[in-house]
Amino acid sequence: MSYLELDTEYGEDDSLQMLREEVHDFAKNEVRPAALEIDRLGRDEYLDIGDAGSPFREVMAQMKELGYHSAVIPEEFGGGGLSGREFHVMLEELAWGSSGFAIALGVDFLPATFASLSFDDEIQESFLDPYLADDAGRYIGCWGVTEPNHGSELVSSASFTENGIDGASRENISPPDITIEQDGDEWILNGVKASWVSAAPAATHCALHAGMDPSNADPGYAVLVPLDADGVTKGPPIDKLGQRDCPQGELVFDDVRVPDCNVVMTPSMLHPDTGYVDLTQILCITSSGMAAIATGLARAAFEEALAYAREREQSGKPICEHQSVKAKLYDMFEKVETCRAYSRRVCEHVFDRNMSAFEFDASHRHALAAQVYCKRTAFEVAHEAVQIHGANGITRDYPVEKLFRDARVKLIEDGTCEVLGLESADGVIENYEVG
Ligand SMILES: Cc1cc2nc3c(=O)[nH]c(=O)nc-3n(C[C@H](O)[C@H](O)[C@H](O)COP(=O)(O)OP(=O)(O)OC[C@H]3O[C@@H](n4cnc5c(N)ncnc54)[C@H](O)[C@@H]3O)c2cc1C
Repeated sequence: MSYLELDTEYGEDDSLQMLREEVHDFAKNEVRPAALEIDRLGRDEYLDIGDAGSPFREVMAQMKELGYHSAVIPEEFGGGGLSGREFHVMLEELAWGSSGFAIALGVDFLPATFASLSFDDEIQESFLDPYLADDAGRYIGCWGVTEPNHGSELVSSASFTENGIDGASRENISPPDITIEQDGDEWILNGVKASWVSAAPAATHCALHAGMDPSNADPGYAVLVPLDADGVTKGPPIDKLGQRDCPQGELVFDDVRVPDCNVVMTPSMLHPDTGYVDLTQILCITSSGMAAIATGLARAAFEEALAYAREREQSGKPICEHQSVKAKLYDMFEKVETCRAYSRRVCEHVFDRNMSAFEFDASHRHALAAQVYCKRTAFEVAHEAVQIHGANGITRDYPVEKLFRDARVKLIEDGTCEVLGLESADGVIENYEVG
């Protein structure tokens, strides 16, 4: 029985099935072993995780060789133009092998996505074309949103348009940690992005959010910044609890100059009515990906638990035949399947609206809800998977121990579940038509 058994419209030789098998084999043979190796690196060895030749860089290079980075970019700009469903299948399989590497790929293509959605020929030539042609890991992207003084409030895009989550007023938000100013046909960046920028220790380019108005933290501008530019400094990778297979680090900008075409989004481009940046549609893309990745992580934990429960015997029979273990396995199976159903639907919708029709009107509340649901569910499933392993589940000898730590990290990454849930609830309460 394949987990795709509900997908009866796809035959044996279907391209979706082929994509799934290709990515699954890669995830199993290359990604998961490298992720386990990285997870066990000591603090000192981990400092080199972003360097050429590290297992992180090696797998990123392999992904480039396979063309996974370009597959997501719309065909109009020279990419593979994956559909939302294909995007979901690719990320779920990668995350089954390692949610860290799936995240690394997810942030890798964000500078390119921003560049393509700015519809600018100059940036297409200077960055997008070489990025798409990369088959050796010369380009690695990251996404700089979070700042030392601005975490949840930057994820909560509503705070930039009206009142933020929990009614927080714009006036209560302190000045941006990254500022941008124009100087002729160049732009100058100054400030710091928090230590939480995924893949930053290895990245060559950042899709960076920066603000111009010192009176509030509205990050109105998105700028493509080559990280080898004069004035850029990188902090060391953070040594953290889980998902160590995707390193995070700080980025510091000291009078960094970029040409005009690198300013890929301005407030008026994104939100002409209010003049404030509307990050919601970018967050729809990232949230749909996060939901797919959490589904892959949940499935990996469920499969580990199922395999173990079939083998491990107590009281004369495999533990999967004991009622309470059987009931847990059923709950986990149901949760993984509901995660997949919701996250796939959202990926299809978001890609259709934002990466194909270019209408940028995807349902923000559904994208956030899918992210929250799948992240919470992945944590619940990983938690039960540890329980089914008994004492073995808390040893480093069994993969569920890592999966559990990875799932815990997810509850904060890309916005805490609490804050994302409040954001989604605002949209539901305001707009849901009852009856
Ligand atoms: C593994 C990982 C990867 C990440 N990758 C990236 C990345 O690639 N790029 C990037 O820019 N950032 C990244 N982040 C940062 C992430 O987006 C932030 O950590 C997240 O938005 C929360 O911000 P914070 O950590 O500053 O917490 P805070 O905002 O300080 O929140 C602390 C607590 O207070 C609660 N809280 C805060 N405000 C409110 C409110 N108004 N109402 C109710 N509760 C509230 C939160 O739910 C949380 O429990 C990553 C984080 C992690 C853990």
